[in-house]
Amino acid sequence: MPPAVANSCIARHPMDLLTKALLRIGQATRAIGLEEAREIGLTPVQAETLLFIKRTKSFATSIGSLATHLGATHASTVGVVDALVARGLVERRSSGVDRRVTLLRLTEAGEETCRQLERWGHLLEEALAGLSDDDRVALERGLGAVIWSLRTAGYLEVAEPCRGCVYFEENAAPGSPEPHHCRLINAYLSEEESLKDCPDHVPLAHADATPSREDLGSRTGSRERGRR
Ligand code: SF4
Repeated sequence: MPPAVANSCIARHPMDLLTKALLRIGQATRAIGLEEAREIGLTPVQAETLLFIKRTKSFATSIGSLATHLGATHASTVGVVDALVARGLVERRSSGVDRRVTLLRLTEAGEETCRQLERWGHLLEEALAGLSDDDRVALERGLGAVIWSLRTAGYLEVAEPCRGCVYFEENAAPGSPEPHHCRLINAYLSEEESLKDCPDHVPLAHADATPSREDLGSRTGSRERGRR
């Protein structure tokens, strides 16, 4: 009987099915991203670079962070950025905190190009729309654990917004234009900035991975230098 066969397969090879499913989702997102980038005359890595700059916190858009995000060398990342600067989509600016650090910003043309690159996210949302709330919660929890494990093993750079981070102090300065506070970099953040991705996000569920106060001090000082 077909269901029995399927069940016995799951019992014998539970990870094979999950792994295949994840690889297929990866294939699909890569294909959609490739098509989107081509449609507007970009290479996939150029498109990924623009989206990184748009979604990442303004203090973390250094060439070093971008290279880590792309999994590329510093030299090839500089080449990607140079091409986008030449096209008027990206500009370089010195960090207000450490002038030796160069941060990347989108120009107006870059912002407009990014707006055309969001379709893959919508397609995934549509694909998930058929799941029940319970299935979504279970999937989120399971995938979250897989992603954390890959991140801990050093295979994945995961950047997330502030909410849910162990360092985040929501509305620490009520009524201020920058009401939120980050204990890691000891800085206040606007609501808009708090919604952007941060490579240093540590989920509350993994609070035991949080560095001590002494570590926080040394990381804050070395943070920008290390990401140049
Ligand atoms: S470390 Fe956490 S609280 Fe600080 S900016 Fe990053 S995500 Fe936000």
